Amino acid sequence: MYACPSCHEPTIGYFRKWLSYPAVPARCSRCGAYSHSYRLSRGVGVVVAAVVVTLCGFAAIAVHSAVPLLLGLAISLMFYAWHWHRVQLELLSPEAVAAARAGESAFGLLALIAVFLR
Ligand SMILES: [Zn+2]
Repeated sequence: MYACPSCHEPTIGYFRKWLSYPAVPARCSRCGAYSHSYRLSRGVGVVVAAVVVTLCGFAAIAVHSAVPLLLGLAISLMFYAWHWHRVQLELLSPEAVAAARAGESAFGLLALIAVFLR
């Protein structure tokens, strides 16, 4: 469990933190505050993991063995989990959550219209 950034009680579950983003934030069961870890958690972890997997893939080709690639995948997974674990949750105001949900709804509606106009 992770501490709520508002009341500092450990009320945010592991998957709730991982899946949180402004339109679907984590909500504290004690104080009701919204929070997310979206802005900082995913970009760096995914980019570093992709670079490591790519470099290990080249090494695997060079040595004609899958061991470097499997090692790179394991390292990338551990780095991503560690990076995600240490990122702090950020508070979100109810207005910011409503704005993010409205923006996501508009995008979903436009995507649906685009599918039917194809
Ligand atoms: Zn709280």
